[in-house]
Amino acid sequence: MSRTAVVTGGASGIGAATVRALASEGYRVVVADLNADAARALADELGGEVRSVGMDVTDEASVATVFESVTADVVVHCAGVSVPGAITELELSGWRTTVDVCLTGTFLVLKHAGRHLSDGGGIVCIASLNGRQPGTGMAAYCAAKAGVLMLVEVAAMELAERGIRVNAISPGLVDTPLVAGVAFVPGLREEYLENTPLGRSGRAEEIADLAVFLASDKATWMTGAAIDLNGGAHLRRYPDVLGKVRALAQGG
Ligand code: NAD
Repeated sequence: MSRTAVVTGGASGIGAATVRALASEGYRVVVADLNADAARALADELGGEVRSVGMDVTDEASVATVFESVTADVVVHCAGVSVPGAITELELSGWRTTVDVCLTGTFLVLKHAGRHLSDGGGIVCIASLNGRQPGTGMAAYCAAKAGVLMLVEVAAMELAERGIRVNAISPGLVDTPLVAGVAFVPGLREEYLENTPLGRSGRAEEIADLAVFLASDKATWMTGAAIDLNGGAHLRRYPDVLGKVRALAQGG
């Protein structure tokens, strides 16, 4: 019998690539996204066993409803946002939005997926290189993603008694709508790639392939792991995002 997967943030970028990869592996897939129209469009395009649902990962009732109504075996949790800004300038609302979606959203998904996922299921959370590598101007995102990595470890211990595995992927720069702003900051992409041994950004499909592996029966002994998937960028240093944004603002 085919397995059922829920992909949060499944309407765009890494999530959408994961939906496609899971569908091609024969999963029934639920595309769960705040952008219900985009989720529906992807489900309509793929047809077959792919359907969509509106979900806000910051809203407990919304998350609970999805996991109560779908008997899922696999969850790939991709929903995320980033509000940038120096700590001394970042509005509290920007901090809260980032932490709400990235960290509290992960807690709510782990809580309700953890209650309802079938025994032996798999949860994959998309964290970030910034969960372990600090970036100037990215305090909220870095702090939230570091929290995600720790949440994944705690969840892996707590859910192991039901055979549910919980793992994280920490991508580096992947070309998706989330990072479209990078192109507008002169030198930022170049400095990032200089610090990436394999010398290129990632493709959403490359993250999706690992997510499918981690969710599958080929990874049945893996839990509580965080896998760097970034062309080796974790081996060097993160670019000075804030310095480059300030230079741009000063016309430099
Ligand atoms: P994306 O912007 O293309 O997709 C994010 C999706 O999340 C969107 O469809 C959006 O509607 C959805 N979303 C936002 N807020 C939501 C909410 N409250 N509830 C439900 N859905 C919500 O971004 P992406 O690059 O595909 O990012 C996917 C994940 O990968 C994120 O967690 C992001 O932090 C992480 N990540 C991305 C990169 C990168 O370079 N693109 C690098 C490291 C980590």
